[in-house]
Formats: sequence, C-alpha cells, structure tokens
Amino acid sequence: MKTKPVHVTSPLLPPLEEFIPYLERIWESRILTNAGSMHQALEKALCSYLGVKHIALFANGTLALVTALQALRITGEVITTPYSFVATAHSLLWNGVKPVFVDIDPETLNLDPAKIEAAITPQTTAIMPVHCYGTPCDVSAIARIADTYNLKVIYDAAHAFAVRDARGSVLRHGDLSILSFHATKVFNTFEGGAIVCPDARTKQRIDHLKNFGFVNETTVVAPGINGKMHEVSAAFGLLQLRHIDRALARRAEIDAQYRQRLSAIRGLHCLPRVSRDMGNHAYFPVMIDEDFPISRDALYQLMRAQNILVRRYFHPLISEFPMYRGLPSATPGNLPVAHAAARRVLCLPIHPDLASAEVDRICDLIVAQLRMHAA
Ligand SMILES: *Cc1c(COP(=O)(O)O)cnc(C)c1O
Repeated sequence: MKTKPVHVTSPLLPPLEEFIPYLERIWESRILTNAGSMHQALEKALCSYLGVKHIALFANGTLALVTALQALRITGEVITTPYSFVATAHSLLWNGVKPVFVDIDPETLNLDPAKIEAAITPQTTAIMPVHCYGTPCDVSAIARIADTYNLKVIYDAAHAFAVRDARGSVLRHGDLSILSFHATKVFNTFEGGAIVCPDARTKQRIDHLKNFGFVNETTVVAPGINGKMHEVSAAFGLLQLRHIDRALARRAEIDAQYRQRLSAIRGLHCLPRVSRDMGNHAYFPVMIDEDFPISRDALYQLMRAQNILVRRYFHPLISEFPMYRGLPSATPGNLPVAHAAARRVLCLPIHPDLASAEVDRICDLIVAQLRMHAA
C-alpha cells in the first residue's frame, strides 16, 4: 500500500469559515479590484508586520520583478545569480536586459560579492541578487560595490518574507525588494507578489506602472502593465496574516527536528542555522556530498519511491536553460560553485502542516542508507 504523498511544501490554508466574512464584505462593496479596501488594508498591514515603509501589491512576483526593473529604468546588463528560480532572469529578458551570471558563495548559496566586480562592464546598470532559501545576502558588501560603480540593487526576496537581520527587515536593503505570495511560498495570496520600496515617490511610480500607467481617468504617463492584485487575494492575505506567526513557529520546530536528526551524518550537511526569530525556514535544503553512501539522485529517486516528494532546487541552474546557456557568463567554468550546489542539493519537505512523525520517517529513511551501506 502506498502512503499519502508528503510534498516539499503545502499552502498555509486557514479554515474556510474564517474566510467567508471577508468574501461577504467584498460582495457588499461590489469592488473587486483596482485598489479596493482589502488591497489598501493589506498594504498597510504588511508594512506594519514586515517593518517596512512602502509596499505595492502585485498579481504575482514575476510581474513585480518585471515592473521593478521598469520603475528604475534598468537597461544594458544586470548582474545576477544562476542559482534561483527561473523567473529571476526571465524578468531581465522581458525588459530587454542582458543577464550576466556571477557565481555564488559556497556557504550561503547567494551571489558571491567577491566575484561581482570582475563582471562589471560599462553596460552594467544594476545587480539583482536573491536571498536564496531566505538566507540574507551579504547586503553591505553588495551596497559598497553598488555605491562604487553607481549601480542599482534590486533584491529578488521571493524567499525572504519576514526574514530579519540584526537591525530589522532584510527587505529594507537595496533600491527595491520583490516578494512572491505564490501558493508555495511561506505567505500566500493564492497568486500574488509585492514590491517593497523606501520612498513614497517610487511607490507612486510603481502604482502607476502596475495600472497601465494611468495617473487619473484621462492621463497615461508610462507604458504600464496590468499587475494589480484583486480583492479576493488581498482579503486572503489579511486572513493569512492572522495565522502567519503560528505557521512560522511550526516551520522553526521542523527545522530544529531535521537538524537534530541529520546534523551528525557523514556526507550530508545542512545550511548554516539561522535563529528562530530571524529566519522564516521557508526551505530545508541539505547537501549530499561524495562520502554519503549513495548519490544525490539515487537518494532523490529512493525518497520519491516512498512518496516523499523531495525537490532539487535549483537544478538545473538558470544558466543551463536554452535561452541563457549561450551567454558568455553562463559557461560552467564561470560558475563552478553553483554547478556543485545544483549537483548536491536536495530540499526536504517543510510546511506548517507537516507532522513530526513524518519528519522522523524522512530522517529514518536517510539514516537507513548509512546502515545499509556500512558493511
Ligand atoms: C517564486 C519565485 C519567483 C516568482 O514568483 P511568482 O509569484 O510565482 O511569480 C521569483 N523568484 C524566486 C526566487 C521565486 O522563488
């Protein structure tokens, strides 16, 4: 008999009856979109929850990325990481901008600041790093380089909802940060996203761009797009916020359980631990090294056969996809650390509804490989 599948993630979905009153309010108002009261309330609530100044909500994170590049009028070349979800680089192509891939740091798996300068050319206008798995980038090193070369910094913070550093939200760094509220993310609005920005003027430009460039009934100031979040999604976000602390706390417990069971295993290592109130435990990646008894892909197949649906984020690398692999910066020789990480990584299931018994079953399966291959 096959057991129930254990997915790598599962959406935070509060009880349906709690959502009904929100829907009743939308039906009463007959306002379904275009910055209605739910949309306004969610922007305000998120600013306060995340500790940031301004947020512009979007229909999804990819439209937020595309619009962020428009808002800052980015052209030419942008330095970015190959170790991410493909939307990071796609947003550059949608703006006619050339991605320039730079290798990652072996510890954090984020863009390696020491390798950025060598990739800067007269065409470079910006850096687009990713806080991969919610681990903060080396934001001060990136800021120093950006200041020196007069570059913009746009963080793809799709993994970094509620992530903090010693002085506050990680979303306050750079010129703009982009969030995704896709169903698979820590905080979801079914589909959704946002741009976090530091000043009201930029927020206003972004608000125009996400609404076709309209500033009033008859004036269009830019070739904007339709990137608006609708009222049902915004309402769902308000409901999620009431449950998010519990969800984050449960994720932290699962993270701790995995580390306790797996941290002493030869040939397997976890990413550096982040403290409970700083990280969001969005993912639980482990690295399968040469001295683990079986290969990463053998372990992947073995777990899938047990209905444990682990994922190899981020394999293949963005730089391996056909629309990128011809770029000079996409050659494997330029990206050895990213290639090594893509060969070794396995993301284990983590989500607020994952039971401790399931986490144990996953760990048992990994530990059993050591015993089976010990002789
Ligand atoms: C999820 C994700 C996106 C895209 O977000 P959508 O809301 O699905 O469009 C972009 N970048 C990264 C790193 C992501 O993980």
